[in-house]
Amino acid sequence: MALRSGRVLRSRIRTDALLVRKTPFGDADAIVTFFTEERGIVSALARSAMKSSKRFPSLEPMHLLHVGLEERVGAELGVLVESAIARTRLVLTASLDRLEAAGHALRWVRRAAPPLTPEPALWAVINGFLDDLDADGAGDGPAPTARLAGLGFRLLAAIGWGLDLERCVHCGRDCGESSSAFVDPAAGGLVCRACGGARLLLREGRRARFLASTMGDDGALRGDDATAALELIEATLAAHTE
Ligand SMILES: [Zn+2]
Repeated sequence: MALRSGRVLRSRIRTDALLVRKTPFGDADAIVTFFTEERGIVSALARSAMKSSKRFPSLEPMHLLHVGLEERVGAELGVLVESAIARTRLVLTASLDRLEAAGHALRWVRRAAPPLTPEPALWAVINGFLDDLDADGAGDGPAPTARLAGLGFRLLAAIGWGLDLERCVHCGRDCGESSSAFVDPAAGGLVCRACGGARLLLREGRRARFLASTMGDDGALRGDDATAALELIEATLAAHTE
């Protein structure tokens, strides 16, 4: 819907959203950044959001929100006009480990997703991850760090930066399931010995478990796999964003 108000062309959108940042602005307002289903990353002014929680009581991370935004043509910053919780994730928000993993994931989204660009695949994987963290009962399910590592691999794939852990990215040679292989995050995956190799060596068992994690099996990671996976994911994000 577009309507003319004075000389400014405005439009209203309503969309599901995740809060990825909230920064105080002036005495009472806040600048909020959402990852939304309809528009991707959007920032908006939330008037009185810091002064009173009554104005927007639902402005919390992790839960699925439904927000109304007013966009002005030519203006980078929209205005938040309404916000409600569409689906709570109360189990997730009651656990420090899960909150930390979810917070880390939302920072990745903020870093990787371009502004004002719908990213349906990324939207699906981040919400699937938050729902999984919320659905894992007390103590069962994969560790939150293993969940985070799996999400990291799938986030990279969703944004077009997925790592090829099966074939050499230069010559296309299949590196087989049962051999160690070099991986170069900046090159986008494996680099075989003939193509020069890379600094980081993935042992065969770990590479197979990373592949399973990429495919959605968050329980596949063992021991310190998750730590190694997180380093690889961070290095890949850095190669694309720094
Ligand atoms: Zn090669």
